[in-house]
Amino acid sequence: MTMHLLNADLHCHSNVSDGTLTPEQLAERARLNGVDLWALTDHDEVGGVQRARAAAAAQGMLFLSGSEVSVTFAGKTVHIVGLGFDPYDEALQRGLEHTRGGRERRAREMSDDLARVGIKGAYEGALRYVGNPDLISRTHFARYLVETGVCSETHEVFRRFLTEGKPGYVEHRWATLSDAVGWIVGAGGVAIIAHPGRYDFTPNEEYALFTEFKALGGQGVEVVTGSHTASEYVKYADMACEFDLLASRGSDFHDPGESHIDLGRLPDLPGRVTPVWEALEQRILHP
Ligand code: AMP
Ligand code: MN
Ligand code: MN
Ligand code: MN
Repeated sequence: MTMHLLNADLHCHSNVSDGTLTPEQLAERARLNGVDLWALTDHDEVGGVQRARAAAAAQGMLFLSGSEVSVTFAGKTVHIVGLGFDPYDEALQRGLEHTRGGRERRAREMSDDLARVGIKGAYEGALRYVGNPDLISRTHFARYLVETGVCSETHEVFRRFLTEGKPGYVEHRWATLSDAVGWIVGAGGVAIIAHPGRYDFTPNEEYALFTEFKALGGQGVEVVTGSHTASEYVKYADMACEFDLLASRGSDFHDPGESHIDLGRLPDLPGRVTPVWEALEQRILHP
């Protein structure tokens, strides 16, 4: 098999962040779906990486360490995926810990804001879905709002609540782009702009993100992800070529019922881009 055609899924979440499956369950599901090379990328966390690494080996899959770091850029939240770093790197661990730090207070404020529109007990309700007390996220609130019948599915929650201008939205300051790229690169990994098609940037802002990211030492961009449309695969393959960035591929799988793209069930990267895993050969862990 050539490296280009590996079934690589380099973006997903376990219950160590806002996914619902354990790292072991994800590894098994990835293998059943034909994944050859896998990375677990929990939000602002590397707490599941060792379990995922062992589970990948047990399933006979190639493995890369990973995390998805929350960043504030130009007043908006941007996600930076790191791959192939040393998960024990101290500066990286301290940085992620600091990034996780404000989530608790933010969650209480979200709950207070939801109470003002008549939705009571959201903090306690969301907590029941949390697998890692350090990592309460909007996704856990979304599950609670579905459970209580306020919305019928989590995507509806994000349309009506928890996003800018809607009840339950609390502005939050995450890591800087410079810090996130620095932690990942400093730990020997490659930094990747996650699902660029999901940000509401103007073309100028998007250009600034790519330019600044590149200047800071960022090396990759997600081209094929569960968050992109087919035309965005083309657009971001073009951007990868224009900015001389490596291309990544990942489902962003969270849960069998919520995620519309399953682990490993994505189109191949377009032939004109260089897959990020070709540059990470030395970092790939073999079973
Ligand atoms: P947080 O890090 O707490 O701000 O939560 C962000 C998470 O919310 C993302 O990683 C997604 O899992 C989820 N999310 C954000 N927007 C949506 C959406 N429109 N539909 C479903 N899930 C979403
Ligand atoms: Mn998520
Ligand atoms: Mn994301
Ligand atoms: Mn994600």
